Amino acid sequence: MQGVLEQVAAGVRSVVGQGKQAVSIPALARVPLNRFGMAVATADGDVVGVGDWDEPFSVQSLSKLFTLALAGDMRDRVGREPSTLAFNSLSQLELDEGRPRNPFLNAGALVTTDQLLSTTGDAAAALRGFLAAESGAEVAVDLSVAESELETGHRNAALAHLIAGYGNLHNPVTDVLRNYVHSCAIAMSCRDLALAGLFLARTGRGRATQVLSASDARRLNATMLVCGMYDGAGEFAYRVGLPAKSGIGGGVLAVVPNRCVVCVWSPGLDRCGNSVAAVAALEIFSALTGYSVF
Ligand code: GLU
Repeated sequence: MQGVLEQVAAGVRSVVGQGKQAVSIPALARVPLNRFGMAVATADGDVVGVGDWDEPFSVQSLSKLFTLALAGDMRDRVGREPSTLAFNSLSQLELDEGRPRNPFLNAGALVTTDQLLSTTGDAAAALRGFLAAESGAEVAVDLSVAESELETGHRNAALAHLIAGYGNLHNPVTDVLRNYVHSCAIAMSCRDLALAGLFLARTGRGRATQVLSASDARRLNATMLVCGMYDGAGEFAYRVGLPAKSGIGGGVLAVVPNRCVVCVWSPGLDRCGNSVAAVAALEIFSALTGYSVF
């Protein structure tokens, strides 16, 4: 596997640096574009990596995956259909009458965060505790990123108020937003994220706990496949063929059921908000290994 990762890193060298950092959170625009890291955690719990695989980065929407796993069944409040509009679209939410189309849109993640807030009293802390237990590492929030997003996150505030207007939030908007932003502002490395996500490749069995039942883990992978890469999900399924979730910090976490979890990071994003180099790396990885769900 180490040899495969070296080949992938060599294959994406000319792509690293393409795309742009996220503009919606000013603190993310300061991260150098030339970073690239990739880690593979295998089902038996080993982990190997290449490049900046041990450097913490802002997980952003990768947090939505773990929040959803902890929130439980959300089908009454959030849909499961892919979206053709942007991840932070207000129009989509209005069309869907306050029941967000899927849990990986910002609107959907606000509702799953609300649910986790109701069951734990502190959704962001519950998430950090889970990630620390599963990765075996300390997990911290980058407060400069959280403050930057809280200052500029007018669109997420608008989404939260619109959901509340439809009666689909159970906690005060400000509490939901704070928990959401502190979940997104968690900083972790590719190594630790790949380890934390291993339950997705092991029929729900995490390193510390049984995170999900086998059928729920399968459903979460299915949701990732159709919704995890936003309005680039079809292109990603075509090029890579694995369930995956991206974040605007430049991370992508992909699952090869029963084999491994792969986490790739490079900050330059395409127009959908997916890392250009991480997607290219996963395309090379799936070609070299033959790993695909198809
Ligand atoms: N915190 C980010 C936002 O709300 C997450 C978006 C993402 O990573 O796709 O805009």
